[in-house]
Amino acid sequence: MYKELEGIIEREDKRGKTFRYVDEKNINDEDLKWADAYMSFYPVENFAFHQMKWVHSLGAGVDRYVKLDSWKDDVILTRTVCSFGARMSEYCLSYMLSELQYHVAFQKAQREKKWEPLEPVLLSSQKVVIYGTGEIGQSIAEMLKRFGVQVTGVSRSGKSNQHFHQVVATGDEASHVKQADWIINTLPLTPETNRMFNAEWMNILQGAYFINVGRGATVDTVSLIEAINTRRIKKAFLDVFEVEPLPQSDMLWEHENIVITPHISAVTTPKEAVACFFDTLDRIEADKPLENKVDLNRGY
Ligand code: NAP
Repeated sequence: MYKELEGIIEREDKRGKTFRYVDEKNINDEDLKWADAYMSFYPVENFAFHQMKWVHSLGAGVDRYVKLDSWKDDVILTRTVCSFGARMSEYCLSYMLSELQYHVAFQKAQREKKWEPLEPVLLSSQKVVIYGTGEIGQSIAEMLKRFGVQVTGVSRSGKSNQHFHQVVATGDEASHVKQADWIINTLPLTPETNRMFNAEWMNILQGAYFINVGRGATVDTVSLIEAINTRRIKKAFLDVFEVEPLPQSDMLWEHENIVITPHISAVTTPKEAVACFFDTLDRIEADKPLENKVDLNRGY
């Protein structure tokens, strides 16, 4: 989106900084040597820190940056935080209501001109387990709680949070997962969360829906398909994949109980990206605390 960023920054910014706007494919070593700061969705293949002091991710997920070898102690990594929580909440709510109101069944009945009543299920009867109680998990929990949904959070620390009825630490969630109607994954990709949703975990489930808006590699897709085929998972809604775009040959495309969206549950808009970038820049220059600073040891 470098052209859109250029349009907004050159039109609106009065800070007097100098920018180079370059397609990731064309960033060369001279650009990297010239820059004090780097902003992109990911580090380019030839990325090198040189004199850089600040790296800013246009997305909320930073796994590709964290993987870089040898971060220098004096380089800050920040990430974009904007309307992601609201967008993810609406994404999840849309699929939850669609299932509970039997949209697909009624469309099919209409095509066949059949009058076949089904009783819609109330959101307030649902139990949801959200993996990740950070920016995004909290927004989803806050929205669902307003509809009377019973919301349990799972996090690394298990620290309680006002938007969840309860939060448990990973390893202690089995009884909640077992009873859940919906599982929503908002976890970042780290060595600990890689393939966290594997066959052993899926064996706990008893017919829940699964929504993945975190990262694709947190899920073992072979086990996921097996869990759907054996009805441990009723249906999966997947917005993120280990390889993106999802290759045409991937078997996930054709499964009738898998819904695929192309990583759109929380898009970064150029306007919001610029606002977050400048807010972060102003805070760095004023030596103010940075809520969007990434802890490189934790990896998120
Ligand atoms: P965040 O504020 O950093 O929150 C991360 C949460 O994950 C925290 O609650 C953390 O636990 C928990 N966590 C980390 N490692 C864990 C582990 N091993 N076990 C259990 N919990 C663990 O991040 P966020 O802003 O909510 O974003 C989350 C992720 O969403 C991003 O990293 C990105 O991958 C994804 N995302 C996807 C899209 C999309 O379009 N699909 C858009 C934006 C973001 P603690 O609270 O204990 O630290």
